[in-house]
Amino acid sequence: MWLLLRPEVTAADIEPALRVRGWPYEVRQLGGRAIVVVQANGQAPAEAASWREVERVIMEGEEHPTLVYAAEGTYSLGNWRRGDSLLWIAGPCSVESRSQLLSTARALRDLGVTALRGGAFKARTSPYSFQGLGEKAIDLLLEAKAETGLPLCVEVLSEKHLPRYENIDILQIGARNMDHYELLKAAGAMHKPVLLKRNPQATLTEFLFAAEYLLLYGAPVVILCERGIRTYERRLRYTLDVGGIAVLRSEVGLPVIADPSHAAGEAAYVEALSLAAIGAGAEGLIVEVHPDPPAAKSDARQQLTFEAFAHLKAKADRLWATLHDTATPALNAKGVS
Ligand code: PEP
Ligand code: MN
Repeated sequence: MWLLLRPEVTAADIEPALRVRGWPYEVRQLGGRAIVVVQANGQAPAEAASWREVERVIMEGEEHPTLVYAAEGTYSLGNWRRGDSLLWIAGPCSVESRSQLLSTARALRDLGVTALRGGAFKARTSPYSFQGLGEKAIDLLLEAKAETGLPLCVEVLSEKHLPRYENIDILQIGARNMDHYELLKAAGAMHKPVLLKRNPQATLTEFLFAAEYLLLYGAPVVILCERGIRTYERRLRYTLDVGGIAVLRSEVGLPVIADPSHAAGEAAYVEALSLAAIGAGAEGLIVEVHPDPPAAKSDARQQLTFEAFAHLKAKADRLWATLHDTATPALNAKGVS
């Protein structure tokens, strides 16, 4: 069984009670709260449920995600504090070269993004497509971080690569791996923030269960990312589920962001989907940006130039500020946008 402790309680508060009963246990941290995994006999759940430190006893066979609902709170990542501004993660689909990555990282730092993205090991539909620079990409990303100070958000394709992600700040679980449960357990056990993409075939409940795995196994926060689902509509690459964003925002305490790049599949529609996502309540965006999009080795059609990204960012920040009723920093004194 798992014991979700009340927010003000630490695991140390119940450890004497666990020890005295001889129940083996392990403590995990969920944001500011503790979850205690206990191996105990059949009487234990009823007894533990009556302890005032315990908010909820979660039993084997539980059919609803619990921790994703409990994980409310103030989160911060790099220069982003939840509620103060949009969370911006941007960068190329794939890391292709040192100059490509460093020029992008510098431009994005100057535009005030929160974190740099860049694919190292790529999940491509065709085995003949560019598979990413792998380990070399991780080295380049760490170099970009050292120079710009930008935290890194990098997709993890396999548990066996995780040791190389020690200095990566946000682990990204891609859409194709949302329900790769062993990867979720291993990624959670890195105790790092995770950006979880929704599988295009997954319901919101399945999506939340994937987040539950990550939280249960040790991720301090999971950023839920809507990136388009598969519908009968074929004109754009996927259908961005803006309704799903609204539902997640109203029901769940975890941060919710959108990926307009993979949803649209075409640079021309990235702005419209970004603004729609913000209107539905998205707290941030992950956007693909490349110094020369037509030359990109993956997702060339959907990546934005620096200039297009700067335009999008200014507009999206303004929309977010207007919707959240804060000062609109990008408006000049004459109110001209
Ligand atoms: C990506 O962000 O690089 C990516 C492959 O996206 P998704 O997993 O959403 O397809
Ligand atoms: Mn991509």
